[in-house]
Parts: sequence; C-alpha cells; structure tokens
Amino acid sequence: MKSEETQVPLPAEGALITTACKGTIRYEKNVPTLVYKGRRLYFCLPTCKRSFEYDPKTSCLAGDPLLDS
Ligand SMILES: [Zn+2]
Repeated sequence: MKSEETQVPLPAEGALITTACKGTIRYEKNVPTLVYKGRRLYFCLPTCKRSFEYDPKTSCLAGDPLLDS
C-alpha cells in the first residue's frame, strides 16, 4: 500500500507554512510533517508530531475542524 506521505509534495525550503499550532514558520527540512486525510500538516516540534500520532484530539490540532471531517 502506498503511503499518503509520498502523494502530497513538500513545499520549497523557506516557504511560509502554518503549523498545527497555528504558528507561521518557514519550512525547512527538519520541520516535522505528516499527511493526514490528504492534507500535509506541519508541527513546531517533534513532540507535537508525536502527540498528534498518539491522539490527534489532545494534540496541537485539538479543536481543528479537520479532525471531525
Ligand atoms: Zn505544537
């Protein structure tokens, strides 16, 4: 099975992105990212990504309409 991860392209380095915590940062190779429901998400910290993988509803993305769609 092909992972969604490879189907959503990464932005160019230096591109402005919005993190799951609603911060705006510039994308770099070390920014934690994953694809969820066809959308690429970015995390400010690796711990944010881990908490999302563990339980999205208690992560930085808690309350985001994406979780309920
Ligand atoms: Zn975060």
